[in-house]
Amino acid sequence: FYSEDSGDDYLFKIVLLGDSGVGKSNLLARFARNEFYSNSKSTIGVEFQTQKMEINGKEVKAQVWDTAGQERFRAVTSAYYRGAVGALVVYDISRRQTFDSVGRWLHELHTHCDMNVVTILVGNKKDLKDAREVSTADGKSLAESETLFFTETSALDSSNVNAAFQTIVKEIYNILS
Ligand code: GDP
Ligand code: MG
Repeated sequence: FYSEDSGDDYLFKIVLLGDSGVGKSNLLARFARNEFYSNSKSTIGVEFQTQKMEINGKEVKAQVWDTAGQERFRAVTSAYYRGAVGALVVYDISRRQTFDSVGRWLHELHTHCDMNVVTILVGNKKDLKDAREVSTADGKSLAESETLFFTETSALDSSNVNAAFQTIVKEIYNILS
């Protein structure tokens, strides 16, 4: 279920899922490097990034995988999901269609991974207030009905990005310890 690195380090594989353009690569860039790219092309090609975190005084490594654009061709491979213990299922609060796809991504996830994979539903681009098409209440209620954690983030202004990853990693750690 998890791999133990050297000594008492933990390494958790976490996957990013969601339609193309919702901001997956930028959530990872913000989390791992505190960077943001207004042009999405610059984020293509990164397979995964490993970020050290401290949970209850222990060092934990989050190995976060990015689809690197595979989802555009509906070709997210089973290798991508293999060994994942956490997932962020991301939609864009300014594009309803990306929220409507969440069910499909959850289905994909549960086809490839254990049902117990710790999952957070993430409504990204919350900075786009005037363009909002998905209410916070709708996000929350979907998360409740699917028993997922829930947050709204902005990779652009950084809000809730670290907290989203922290929530997942903490829960994985709690389950495993
Ligand atoms: P991906 O296809 O899911 O990996 O999405 P990207 O990370 O490539 O982002 C797609 C586009 O949305 C890019 O132009 C980003 O600059 C933009 N974007 C990503 N996150 C945010 C955000 O939180 N707010 C805003 N306003 N734009 C964002
Ligand atoms: Mg991407």
